[in-house]
Amino acid sequence: MIKAIFSKLCPNCGGDISVERLEKGLPCEKCMPKEGDPCKSLKEGTLWEVCQVEKELLEWVEEFRRGVSAEPWDLQRTWAKRVLMGHSFGLLAPTGVGKTSFGLSMVSFLAKKNKRSYVILPTKLLVEQTVRKLKSFGLDEKQILYFGDDTEKEKREKRKRLEEEDFLVLVSTSMFLYKNYESLPKDFAFIFVDDVDSFLKTAKNIDKAL
Ligand SMILES: [Zn+2]
Repeated sequence: MIKAIFSKLCPNCGGDISVERLEKGLPCEKCMPKEGDPCKSLKEGTLWEVCQVEKELLEWVEEFRRGVSAEPWDLQRTWAKRVLMGHSFGLLAPTGVGKTSFGLSMVSFLAKKNKRSYVILPTKLLVEQTVRKLKSFGLDEKQILYFGDDTEKEKREKRKRLEEEDFLVLVSTSMFLYKNYESLPKDFAFIFVDDVDSFLKTAKNIDKAL
């Protein structure tokens, strides 16, 4: 019997693969000696990465359900997947399609994995509202650092926390970003800009966020 081998078509390592494996939609024998569930057997590779994203997506869905008390829509799932794959994208959707619940559920999901996010809003009022929403996701004061209408004493304390990077979620206005860019950490896993319209009016903000 002639055994057909396809060159460079393994979906996981990009190496050679037998026709049997290819027909079954499985990776090559080198990646996965025994047939089974690739997401359970693989330890690395392209397909393995897809499995990781799918796994994280399910965890995010749980987070969304908990915080929003609803099922995420397909569109929100698509956005979440893009974030989990590490893609940067503009979310140009009209109001009322669940941008905010998507963004805040992602912030909360990442915070629980010890990954830092930054939420940028147009007004101080929205900063306060957003912090309340984040708390309803189960995040607490120690994890959230926000700059709104603060007293001088609060400002000093918050500056110190900012300097010490003592937070998982930073929430501020775009004006705050503009004025404090130099003193902000640069290693955010996720930056969520709500109300992009007002943000995009200041070209310098885009440079800074990027
Ligand atoms: Zn392979």
